Amino acid sequence: MVSVSYGKYTVELPVRVKLFIDGEEVPSSRGRTFTRENPAHIDQTLAIVEEASIDDLNRAVDIAREVFDKDKYSWVTNYRQRIRILYKTAEILREEAERIAMTVALENGMPMRQAKSHVLAAADVFEFYAGLADKLYGESIVLNNGNVTLLFKEPVGVVAAVSPWNFPLTQAARKIAPALAAGCTVVWKPASYTPMSAMEIYRALAKAGLPKGVVNVVYGPGATVGNELVKHPKVDYVSFTGETTTGKLIMQQAAAGIKRIGLELGGKNPGLVFEDANIEEAVRAIVFGGLRNAGQACGAISRVLVHESVHDKLVSRLVEVSKSLVIGEPLDDNTDMGPLISKAQEEKVLSYIQFGKEAGFKVALDGGKLSGGIYDKGYFVSPVIFDNVDPKSRLAQEEIFGPVIAVIPFRTEQEAIEIANNVIYGLTASIFTKDPARALRVARKLQAGTVWINDAYTQPVEGIWGGYKQSGIGRELGLYGLEEFLEIKQVYVDTTGSLDRPHWRTVMKIDKL
Ligand code: NDP
Repeated sequence: MVSVSYGKYTVELPVRVKLFIDGEEVPSSRGRTFTRENPAHIDQTLAIVEEASIDDLNRAVDIAREVFDKDKYSWVTNYRQRIRILYKTAEILREEAERIAMTVALENGMPMRQAKSHVLAAADVFEFYAGLADKLYGESIVLNNGNVTLLFKEPVGVVAAVSPWNFPLTQAARKIAPALAAGCTVVWKPASYTPMSAMEIYRALAKAGLPKGVVNVVYGPGATVGNELVKHPKVDYVSFTGETTTGKLIMQQAAAGIKRIGLELGGKNPGLVFEDANIEEAVRAIVFGGLRNAGQACGAISRVLVHESVHDKLVSRLVEVSKSLVIGEPLDDNTDMGPLISKAQEEKVLSYIQFGKEAGFKVALDGGKLSGGIYDKGYFVSPVIFDNVDPKSRLAQEEIFGPVIAVIPFRTEQEAIEIANNVIYGLTASIFTKDPARALRVARKLQAGTVWINDAYTQPVEGIWGGYKQSGIGRELGLYGLEEFLEIKQVYVDTTGSLDRPHWRTVMKIDKL
């Protein structure tokens, strides 16, 4: 046994992570496990995780189905119960934020300062949706003919939630909290790299009094356990966050059962810096938005489109600020950037850096694989900034998901908009200008689900999150994020009691019978 400490908290490793089915933490029925290593200390095993068998998965879905269909524990009807549990969950996450952040830092590599705000952001999501569980209002419409039609909002049913590792708590909370507020039940497959973070969420829910079987959690490879879950005939809705290529597969699987889906996928997000921008503001926002979580963020700025007149000033300051980031131990409060999540991710990022160099793009900041000291023990990669990148090259078109920024100069507003939109993705964009008319004009023309003006990567829970084009389908967060988990049912009521109905009479002569 090894123990790791942060402040007053100590974790004994490895942590045993079990499946969560029908309110119990249970082992795999086939006795299979897998491990998760610390990305900052790869010789350290953090967790031994139970891998779900098909039987385990079926049991999880069957229980979620039964709780929903039979309205066991009054889960579907008693919204006051749901409000209390969601509020309580938010409270628990807040009270235990520092300890949970330590878990996130250990298995994700996210530095502690960021991990703490990540836990608090997840708490905000539970709190926000707690406040909506009693506001699932429908509509009543008095029709032209005096009759009434009623529109009821009803929970969509059993939700399959599949979440990624990069922001393990918030990405899951955006699915689970609104699904529960709506009265759905959930079967959740968290990312295999972040099982301990997932455990924190269902333990908080259980502690808050969640009835058995409302949320069930299965671990295992996406290609098997995840795939079986999303195509399961007893699942009504699939809520997925991950890569665009995986999203395409999931869409195909969901098609067989005409399941409703929500997809939150990749991005290749531009930051547009105009000639009148406050350069210091733009640089800080780009570093914050582009390099947080070592660039492993779907909404990260990965392309900087800059007007040629301010290009040199912006690039030299961007290099300076990026260089100043402290890269190292995630559990150290001074760290700005931790390691990448895995060997595979490191190899992917390094291959793009190699490609950029071989393609001959100017290297404004030369970084890459770090070595020596702690760096030899983990997947540490420092930021790389390529300048004068061809907007059509792979470096400017493909999602890298690492600390690599491509700078592309432009001459006119129209050219900047065209470059910004000329990718398959459409998740986020940032505009830096002091001209409010230009800011709104350009924002309207950008194909992106979120556009920030003079900022980057802030996601208010009251707003929305989601992508245009191949960045996804549907919206998370805010009121729209709840609608995803609701069906709308119409109930038409005849109020006349008459056997002579004009709409019958015009089609058939049944009034003459
Ligand atoms: P992946 O698509 O590899 O995995 C996401 C989740 O899906 C994991 O739980 C994974 O399981 C599972 N999975 C993988 N294959 C399948 C399958 N065939 N069927 C069902 N489930 C499957 O993405 P990453 O975890 O690598 O996350 C990074 C990606 O997520 C980036 O592209 C990023 O842009 C995107 N993302 C998008 C966000 C958005 O809001 N738009 C937010 C955050 C990330 P396992 O872990 O076992 O492989």
